[in-house]
Amino acid sequence: MKLHEYRSKQIFARYEIPVPRGRVAMTATEARAIAEELGGRAVIKAQVLVGGRGKAGGIRLAQSPEEAEELATQVLGMHIKGLPVRKVLVDQAADIQTEIYLGITNDRATGSPVLIASAEGGIDIEEVARVRPEKIARAWVDPLLGLRNYQARNLAAGMELPRAHWGQFTDIARALYRVYKQTDASLAEINPLVILGGGSMLALDGKIVLDDNALFRHPDLAELRDLDEEAASEREARKYGLSYVKLDGDVGCMVNGAGLAMATMDVIQHLGGRPANFLDVGGGAPAEKVAAALEIILSDRNVRVVLLNIFGGITRCDEVARGILMAIEEVKPQVPMVARLVGTNEEEGRRLLAEAKMITATSLLEGAERAVAAAKGEAIEHSG
Ligand code: GDP
Ligand code: MN
Repeated sequence: MKLHEYRSKQIFARYEIPVPRGRVAMTATEARAIAEELGGRAVIKAQVLVGGRGKAGGIRLAQSPEEAEELATQVLGMHIKGLPVRKVLVDQAADIQTEIYLGITNDRATGSPVLIASAEGGIDIEEVARVRPEKIARAWVDPLLGLRNYQARNLAAGMELPRAHWGQFTDIARALYRVYKQTDASLAEINPLVILGGGSMLALDGKIVLDDNALFRHPDLAELRDLDEEAASEREARKYGLSYVKLDGDVGCMVNGAGLAMATMDVIQHLGGRPANFLDVGGGAPAEKVAAALEIILSDRNVRVVLLNIFGGITRCDEVARGILMAIEEVKPQVPMVARLVGTNEEEGRRLLAEAKMITATSLLEGAERAVAAAKGEAIEHSG
């Protein structure tokens, strides 16, 4: 679960990371009043849960409360990457000298948190990592020891930060590490962390991504979920206990088991297709869950074919097939459906699906080939 910039910075402030003064506004009039409180000059920042707001015109600098009102009107009328802007953060404008990147995430390879810092902050850190990897400094943290001062200083040295800032950088890095650890975040990021004209540091932008599986330990944070901001399909999916992530390809995927779902997506990609989503229907997969999953997949207008990849272990394949048939009856898909069904009673399962004019396959490769061909508009023969 992603937190908005203003929420992330509220949390930073509690951990004594310096952040600009400012508040969130729902209307342009409110934005004007906040700018007045801040002394006139203010930055108007779209609060949407996507990156690159600056480039999209969602971050504007106002010189006066009047201009703040005008710019807030514009920003509140925008869509950024498809999401409507419903709130703006009005922050005191900062006199920026240097923009630094500082982030903490989990490094799966070492199984430990890693701090990432770069003197080339502000913009896409992914781009910096790609074209100038030497500009990125990293420090791995032993979770039992926590982040040590010397590690933060090594980072500061690694990014060639002038010595005068090492003390403050170390304090901020350690505070950010505490945020990361205590909120069970999978990402805590300040981009940019700026050095102001006067020499002090300020977290201008903040991003916290919380681990959904740990939210039960943080009811106060769980409440911050902004339902307006999520894709409607992901909200529906959560209601039915389905793990669904929308992607931007055209092969809809319904799979039982997260690992199998990942493998299915890999095979589609390998064959030159592009998965439209990740979807794990979970174990058992009763008919109503399958129907909900199918409906969610098909609500994505990009989907040109649906590939079902079901392994019937505990649940029998004929039962799964009946579920799928009920779902089809209900949802009436307009795109071809390919099913790879294996496991207990698979022949019976496939027979039922073939009767319903579904394309069936016995191997994942065969199923994926058929689905990718269908997505490309090639005619596919029915088998089974
Ligand atoms: P993002 O594009 O969504 O990451 O939004 P950011 O909050 O990181 O802002 C993007 C850029 O806007 C920053 O890197 C700064 O260059 C600029 N910016 C943000 N706040 C201020 C401010 O208070 N003053 C000035 N001069 N520039 C700002
Ligand atoms: Mn940023």
